[in-house]
This record gives sequence, C-alpha cells and structure tokens, in this order.
Amino acid sequence: MADKVLVLGGGFAGLESAIAARKAGFDVTMVSDRDYLYIYPISIWIPTREIGFGDVCLPLAETAGIHGFRLIAAPVAAVDAAAGKVRLGDGRTLGYDYLIIAVGAGKVPVPGMEHTLSICGPPAASLEIRDRIDSLIARGRGRIAVGFGGNPKDPSAVRGGPAFEFIFNLHNLLRKKGLRDNFELTLFAPMPKPGIRLGEDAYEMLVSWLGRMGIERRFGLKIKEFDKGGVVFEDGSRLESDLTMFIAAGRGHDLFMESDLPGNEAGFIRIDDHCRVEGCGNVFAVGDCAALEGPDWRAKQGHLAEVMARVAVENIRALAAGRAPVAGYRDKVSILCVMDFGNGAALVHRDENRAVVRPMPVVGHWLKKAWGAYWKLSRRKLCPRLL
Ligand SMILES: Cc1cc2nc3c(=O)[nH]c(=O)nc-3n(C[C@H](O)[C@H](O)[C@H](O)COP(=O)(O)OP(=O)(O)OC[C@H]3O[C@@H](n4cnc5c(N)ncnc54)[C@H](O)[C@@H]3O)c2cc1C
Repeated sequence: MADKVLVLGGGFAGLESAIAARKAGFDVTMVSDRDYLYIYPISIWIPTREIGFGDVCLPLAETAGIHGFRLIAAPVAAVDAAAGKVRLGDGRTLGYDYLIIAVGAGKVPVPGMEHTLSICGPPAASLEIRDRIDSLIARGRGRIAVGFGGNPKDPSAVRGGPAFEFIFNLHNLLRKKGLRDNFELTLFAPMPKPGIRLGEDAYEMLVSWLGRMGIERRFGLKIKEFDKGGVVFEDGSRLESDLTMFIAAGRGHDLFMESDLPGNEAGFIRIDDHCRVEGCGNVFAVGDCAALEGPDWRAKQGHLAEVMARVAVENIRALAAGRAPVAGYRDKVSILCVMDFGNGAALVHRDENRAVVRPMPVVGHWLKKAWGAYWKLSRRKLCPRLL
C-alpha cells in the first residue's frame, strides 16, 4: 500500500505538493480551509475591475479529482508532530506517514488595522476594496493611501510588490476615467528604501515611476496606528485618507501556537535545506509558512513555494525508498516577478549572480495576464505544463 502524504493548505505550496506527491505514487490527502486556491499574483486586478473574483480562484475539489488526491475542506486546528497527528477544527484527527505543512503566513498586527483593507489578506477583502474605490470614483475625488509594514525579525516576510502594483494600477484606472487630478495617491512604508530588495536598478525604476505618476511618498516612517481618517506615524505626523490599503508583514501562522513545531523569532517553521522541519523526521514545511534561509534579499514568493514543494516531495520519495534526502531549496532561492503597472510591466529577477530589471511597456501587462490563464489551465491539465 502507498505511503500516506497529508498536505495542510491549498495555496501554491499545498497544491504543488499534492500534485507532485500524487505523481510520485503516494496516497495524498489535502486539508484546506478554503475550497478554492486563490491566485494572489493576479488578484491585484480585482479592485480595478480588470478581472472577476472567479477568474482568480481555482476550485480545489475539481483539481483534486483531476490529479487524484482527496480534499478535506476544513480548517486545521493543531499539529502534534510528536504524536504524528493533525487535529481539524471539527474535532477530527488525521494521521500520516509524511506531513507537508503549507498553510501560508500569519500577519504582524498594527493597532487600528481594522480601519484598513488588504489585497493580501482574506480574498473577500479585494471585493470590498473594489466597492470602496467605486464609491470614491462616483464621488469624483478622494485620498487613497497604500502601504506595507515591516518585520525586523524576518525581512523575508515583507510584501511590498503588490502595494506598488496596486497603486500603479489605481493611477491608470483614474487616469483612464479622467479623474486622476482629483485624487491624492500616497505610498507609505516604514523602510527608507522600500523595494530595494529587488536590486538598486529596480528600486530606481519604482521611484521614477512613482514620480512620473505623481504618487506621493512617505518612506522611512514607522507606522504607529491606523484610524478612520488615515495613518498615524511614530513621529506624530498623519496621512489623511478616505481608503487605506495596507499589507501587513508576515509572521508565523497562528496555528503554530497550537503545535509543537520549532519556530524562528518571527514564528515561521524552522526547516533544513531539504524543507524538513528541524527535529521531525517525516514532517516538511514549504512556502510562506517556512523560515527561509539564504541571501539578505530572499523573499517569500509563489514560485519559490512551488520549488520548495517539489523539493519536499523528492525528499519524501527518497525517505520512502530508504534513502537519505538530498534535494535542497537554498540554492534555488531567487526573486522572480512581473511587476504590473496597468498598461505595462517590468520583469524583475534576482539571484545570487545578478539583479535584472527589464521594463516591458504594454506587452508586460498582457504577459502577466497570460501567465495567470496558463497557470490555471495547466493545473487543470487543460494545457501542458512548461515546468
Ligand atoms: C497580492 C499578492 C500578489 C503577489 N504576487 C506575486 C507574484 O507576482 N509572484 C510571486 O511569486 N509571488 C507573489 N505573491 C506571493 C505569493 O502569492 C505567495 O508567496 C504564495 O501565495 C505562497 O503560497 P503558500 O501556499 O505558501 O501560501 P498561501 O498562498 O497563503 O496558501 C496557504 C493556504 O493554506 C490555507 N490555510 C491557511 N490556514 C489554514 C488552516 N488553519 N487550515 C487549513 N488551511 C489553511 C489557506 O486557505 C491557503 O489556501 C503575491 C502575494 C500577494 C498577496
């Protein structure tokens, strides 16, 4: 009988784990608290009505049927690695031969965060942001603040790219509607050079785009709190806004408070190069929930989540065959994104040898759209996978 692989989480990391483990012949069950995978990279267009909510969702039950794994749509409540058990929110307990944890990250709270909305949180928030933008457009004027937070305990968990993409797309939407001059757009972040992780050239490009689009900057100011009227910084200054879109930095998932897994200072699960949880022979952690090791500029990204999933499954195969794990993820850490600005994009790539940024006016936007369609079709086996 095939060994049982239990996958927790139905995002990029969880789905890739389940697909790879099925391909390797394991008996696979996935537990996800959502019955769809939310394709975050293309969700940036929901608030500007360029894409519908359904286009960003991949139904997991259908995908499970296509690839031959079981889906349990329920929240995981606790992991007891010592006992080899996972407890679900409804009280059920599941066992496994190998466990892959892929539940994503938690959020670093900031006081008053309930006055903000985020494109990086619960998917439904993107619809609320869309509706709030609609009503500001109907009013004909407004002030919109867009920002992201930091986590000094683990800078790899800072998510700034989507904030840039969101505000660039918003600028374009308002420009198309002839309303740009009636709106104040401001980007705020606590670090003095947000985006520098992508490399000096990419940072310069972002700053020059902000300038060209007339987007104000509040960089290098720590966020004290949010209130109904905007953002309050630690130096006492304020940023007034009618809508604040804020991306909190990541930290370990709350679930790990109820688990016996080793965490780093920020609460992410400690793993070795093989994606194996430290001190747990048959438990792996992949994607945003894991503590990444590597260069200072390392970042939690979807493509890396998929790499880690394949590494974990390769090592599970080795273990199941009585061999030592050899596959590693650390030499594959890189940044790869197509940063969209609504009517074009830039390809940003960074690895240990180089940091490249390649502006792609017009075509870049359609390339990112095409990637979204390809990703969804390929995971449903409706077109061949390139990787
Ligand atoms: C707006 C946005 C744009 C982005 N753009 C890019 C990009 O262009 N390129 C790129 O590479 N990366 C991008 N990223 C980052 C990328 O989306 C993440 O790195 C990736 O989603 C991580 O995948 P994951 O599976 O580890 O986590 P997640 O995608 O967060 O998935 C975790 C899954 O676990 C489930 N889950 C959570 N808690 C539980 C529980 N208790 N029980 C059961 N299930 C649970 C969730 O429902 C979810 O399905 C972007 C992110 C955002 C938010």
